[in-house]
Amino acid sequence: MHIRTRFAPSPTGFIHLGNLRSALYPWAFARHNKGDFILRIEDTDVERSTQEAVDVIIEGMSWLGLDLDEGPIYQMQRIDRYREVVKQMLDSGLAYSCYMSEEELNALRDQQMANKEKPRYNGLWRPEPGKTLPPIPEGVQPVIRFKNPIGGSVIWEDAVKGKIEISNDELDDLVIARPDGTPTYNFCVVVDDLDMKITHVIRGDDHVNNTPRQINIMKALGGMPPVYAHLPTVLNDAGEKMSKRNGAMSVRDYQKAGYLPEAILNYLARLGWSHGDAEVFTKEQFVDWFDLASLGRSPAQHNPEKLLWLNHQYIQNADPAKLAEATKPFAHQLGIDTENGPSFVEVVGLLKDRANTLIEIAEGAKLFYLPAPSHSTEQIAANIPESIVPALKDLILAIQNASATKEAYAAAFKEVLAKHGLKMPALAMPVRYALFATTQTPAIDSVLMVLGRDEALKRLSKVVH
Ligand code: GLU
Repeated sequence: MHIRTRFAPSPTGFIHLGNLRSALYPWAFARHNKGDFILRIEDTDVERSTQEAVDVIIEGMSWLGLDLDEGPIYQMQRIDRYREVVKQMLDSGLAYSCYMSEEELNALRDQQMANKEKPRYNGLWRPEPGKTLPPIPEGVQPVIRFKNPIGGSVIWEDAVKGKIEISNDELDDLVIARPDGTPTYNFCVVVDDLDMKITHVIRGDDHVNNTPRQINIMKALGGMPPVYAHLPTVLNDAGEKMSKRNGAMSVRDYQKAGYLPEAILNYLARLGWSHGDAEVFTKEQFVDWFDLASLGRSPAQHNPEKLLWLNHQYIQNADPAKLAEATKPFAHQLGIDTENGPSFVEVVGLLKDRANTLIEIAEGAKLFYLPAPSHSTEQIAANIPESIVPALKDLILAIQNASATKEAYAAAFKEVLAKHGLKMPALAMPVRYALFATTQTPAIDSVLMVLGRDEALKRLSKVVH
């Protein structure tokens, strides 16, 4: 079987991490099986759908590297196709016109509720052999309803939830087209999943209730229902359903906060799927390992600390040149001119081991691009003890004579410390102050490497006479 999966978002608002997980899993399943992954934009709710939301989805997916084989396919561009299928269903008796007005439906519902029955359409306009239908009212545009099977049940083996069985008596005759002819949501999904030859529907479990209806229509149309895998909800760190209202962040927000796409992908992968106890893995490994059998059955909970930890892992292990490219936009935002001053790749290489986000790297990089500090005499007196000046002078000489390696600079420090009977902080703090007017910097020998010997000597010389 040639596997075909899809991500079918409704572009009606905010797309948070949990939403994108519904793209990641079908993508991984398609890639694992050398199948196809399709993006379908379910934009038939024209009032609420926006191009901005579509852009955010496409951007987020491409940032994570979820490449498409087909699409984006917009449902609004397939309206003629849906109408054609509605017509076929009417012609072949799979669907029928229902002239029950809004008021009649409401009255029916009220009556059923009063009788403590579940509100459902009563089949008034459903044609049956030997049944006489009411006279067609004048000037009323009908809705089109699907003739749901009577009796029996819909059964499917959900790849996550196991066997699910819903009695057909629970399902009334679904409206597939509104009075103005526009097709309804569940119907479009079925036509699309059939036309697009989708073999596996992997989606949020908020759609479980739609599945039996979709399966019935699909079977009526002569199609083979796909395998369904309904993913449990993603909860936020407080244990509530993740949503914008309770602080969920969009993928764009994470991008802006300095997260790497690899870390987000790894994180999302584990939000409802596992492979033994693997926590940090590459995209290739994920694709290689991905299977539906290892999807979790209980809701996954968002854990911001874990995501930050993962981001740190990816930053720490990243290639400095690539990391520098990814960090540049953040550095530029902070006003750092990465083209003037020390090599940005080296600066990033120096900072990456301690940073959790690209913003933290950029913040740390600032130090190396600020103009050399100009200390007043009073400041020098307050921060560089007179007793340390001879050692500083020796250090300047030792650095001048050292070869330009981290090891040689470290040795220069050691030699001066030994000669003057000092401990590292006693010398390193004044050096840091001389170089940057701060006492917080990465390891001083590395700092010398990155700042460059000439610049470092220039700054040191200024504080010793
Ligand atoms: N458009 C639906 C949603 O955004 C998904 C439908 C489906 O995957 O079948 O929730």
